[in-house]
Amino acid sequence: MDRVLMQAVRFDKIEPTAEARRASHLCRAGRTGYVRGMDLHIPFDNSFARLPARLFTRQHPTPVAAPRLIVVNDALAELLGLDPAALRAAADVLAGNRIPTGAMPLAQAYGGHQFGNWNPGLGDGRAILLGEVVGRDGIRRDLVLKGAGPTPYSRGGDGRAWLGPVLREYLVSEAMAALAVPTTRALAAVTTGETVLRDSPLPGAILTRVAQSHIRVGTFQRFAASGDREALAALTAHAIARHYPLATGPADLLAAVTKRQARLVAQWMGLGFVHGVMNTDNCAISGETIDYGPCAFVDSYHPMAVFSSIDRAGRYAYGNQPQITLWNLAQFATALIALAPDQDAAVKDYTQIINRFADIYHSAWLTTFGAKLGLARPTEADRPLIEDLLALMARDGADFTNTFAALPTAQAQDMFTDRAAFAAWQARWQARAPDTALMARTNPQVIPRTHLIEATIAAALAGDLAPFHRMLAAVTRPAQPDPAFSRPPTDTERVTQTFCGT
Ligand code: AMP
Ligand code: MG
Repeated sequence: MDRVLMQAVRFDKIEPTAEARRASHLCRAGRTGYVRGMDLHIPFDNSFARLPARLFTRQHPTPVAAPRLIVVNDALAELLGLDPAALRAAADVLAGNRIPTGAMPLAQAYGGHQFGNWNPGLGDGRAILLGEVVGRDGIRRDLVLKGAGPTPYSRGGDGRAWLGPVLREYLVSEAMAALAVPTTRALAAVTTGETVLRDSPLPGAILTRVAQSHIRVGTFQRFAASGDREALAALTAHAIARHYPLATGPADLLAAVTKRQARLVAQWMGLGFVHGVMNTDNCAISGETIDYGPCAFVDSYHPMAVFSSIDRAGRYAYGNQPQITLWNLAQFATALIALAPDQDAAVKDYTQIINRFADIYHSAWLTTFGAKLGLARPTEADRPLIEDLLALMARDGADFTNTFAALPTAQAQDMFTDRAAFAAWQARWQARAPDTALMARTNPQVIPRTHLIEATIAAALAGDLAPFHRMLAAVTRPAQPDPAFSRPPTDTERVTQTFCGT
């Protein structure tokens, strides 16, 4: 992906504005003299920074010309034990212009298989980890500034993000959270007052991303590939302590991650979510969805829907996602083998562990789609009922979200051209006495539709953020019907290609 990205985007052509150069000069001159704003207390406790130094590089954000707040996520701030009002008053912190007390900014090192090709030299190229906080729920989370400037892992990139992908990630990740899908979250977004050059000059922006950690399959792969057993062991112990405290070693860790990833991808499937760039560096050990670059929710259903402009072979198509998750887990297993005293035995053990993926996934899929049909305890005998509905939907390209939402209503039949076939299916389904309250809890009325995200970004580029705020309100209340946000795209509105969030 990055080769494509690097060819298409002339990062080398970007010169900072005079204002930015001045701001960055001022800041560097006075490292300790960061401007003090209203008191924002963040109770940092930075455990990743205590790991062996090869795992990261200490890196300060590069200050920007004119930070301006777009949005703060009050509920998430409160969960983290932060004062939303103080955050709102701290656009300089959210832009990386001021480093809050206790932060230890760093860029993490990782590698990854990108579209199946191994790249040992990835890492946070434009994301900087400020540090970790333990929230009111007792969960430790990373605070990351995405788009905070170049790092040693930028590989010629500018380290920046523009407004469009920042708003998209904000909307989609918060929608996923509202849909109860494990995901990275969005705490805040700011504009930088600087221009970022992509195909054209675009307004720069920075997202504050929150995650239970940013440790990826690719993080393990990097240190396995370089034969750094010590770093790998420290990383493994860290991941276990942080995410799977009951695990007693690498085999348990693998089993736990396998289970979480299987359940995660089943949830994606149940929402018609296509991640779009399931590289191993975008596969989080925590089991959270990470990287909202070229993702999209399927509107007109096709079992092999693919949107990403660079996914020409459909490697990450909707229907391929479970297999790709397993492929990624196989890479994780391979990386962990280096830690085993008896590697031949570990190959056998780990193969058995990841081969349990299929059963866990199939049962999670059945539970997910069973609930979508109002079946609280679906059995194997219900599988054909689900598959037959999906086949009817595929035949007509029925809207994925709206079809499930409409099932309990008289409008359901309007989704299909072959009404007789749908009526026959409906009779079989009704015979199972579906629980419509379960369906209402399970099937969203509103998901972040790509064409509406694009319209929101276009409005923001024209200076109007009201549509973004309206859409955010709608997608974070997914059970509430909202005709303005449940409208499928017309043929001219349909977005058939999505792009990496650069
Ligand atoms: P992603 O597509 O976000 O998964 O990114 C893949 C890799 O490219 C990661 O190492 C990113 O940090 C890096 N990257 C993406 N965009 C940029 C950019 N504008 N500047 C520097 N590095 C980038
Ligand atoms: Mg990524």
